[in-house]
Amino acid sequence: MDAQTPATRRVLVAKPRGYCAGVDRAVETVEKALERYGAPIYVRKQIVHNTHVVKTLEAKGAVFVEETDAVPEGAIVVFSAHGVAPSVHEEAAARRLKTIDATCPLVTKVHNEAKRFAAKDYDILLIGHDGHEEVEGTAGEAPDHIRLVDGLDGVNGVTVRDPEKVVWLSQTTLSVDETDETVARLRERFPNLIDPPSDDICYATSNRQAAVKQIAAESELVVVVGSSNSSNSKRLVEVAKDYGADAAYLVDDASFVRDEWLEGVTTVGVTSGASVPEELVEGVLAKLSELGFADVHEVEAVKESMRFALPHELRRDLRAR
Ligand code: SF4
Repeated sequence: MDAQTPATRRVLVAKPRGYCAGVDRAVETVEKALERYGAPIYVRKQIVHNTHVVKTLEAKGAVFVEETDAVPEGAIVVFSAHGVAPSVHEEAAARRLKTIDATCPLVTKVHNEAKRFAAKDYDILLIGHDGHEEVEGTAGEAPDHIRLVDGLDGVNGVTVRDPEKVVWLSQTTLSVDETDETVARLRERFPNLIDPPSDDICYATSNRQAAVKQIAAESELVVVVGSSNSSNSKRLVEVAKDYGADAAYLVDDASFVRDEWLEGVTTVGVTSGASVPEELVEGVLAKLSELGFADVHEVEAVKESMRFALPHELRRDLRAR
């Protein structure tokens, strides 16, 4: 060690990190479908928002398409973990596609809430990111009743028919703190705003944010492994900065980690979004080790044990084999 090297250089790795139960199920759905029916298996949109996962599945025979009209009539199509609007099911039926729905059950829960409140003629303020696939899917359940609120900036512009009959729901992968602020501001405008029956931000999103808060408080730099279109990964970068890290970066893999980020740093935090395979985190840790950060400690904020069964239509065919 030279005179410039700090005596203790360490890495704090957040736990939980990486794959959530919904992503695990969605990726396994495509893998099992490939085994059961053979390639190609079409997948509408990225099955989960991670470049490496998509490339790996492509190499096994998955074909990713933007819309069902790109799927040959009668072929098999998997719907991604983010969920789809009813109109997408209708389009698939019209083309006689065999569908396997890998929508995360926690996204389906939000769809069901939207349907229930729409049936009672509530205006539904859906907090989420404009253009995100999950938001498009949820909004498609009740387009006449849902008003999108894209964060704090969206609060003032939203209009409702009857301020006495308003409920808020949310995308599953938002910042917990920012959503609390957005709801508080909405409630100033609509004092009788009803809360969802249970949290829409899912357990995996809130647990990963709780864990990054712990490591960010002790780290000058936080590296978040995740792809740039992953909502929950991007939120981890923001939360890390809000909770004490001087800098936080989103990297798809180790090749994106820049040596200069580590200048003068003694503690690096590492975490990963809910769609990130653990091997990509291991790659980042190996690179950090080469750069003198070999002292690795895992910091566990919350224990997780959630698992979801594969989609029933796939389980039925796997049993019948
Ligand atoms: S992040 Fe949450 S909602 Fe999204 S797939 Fe994972 S568990 Fe489901």
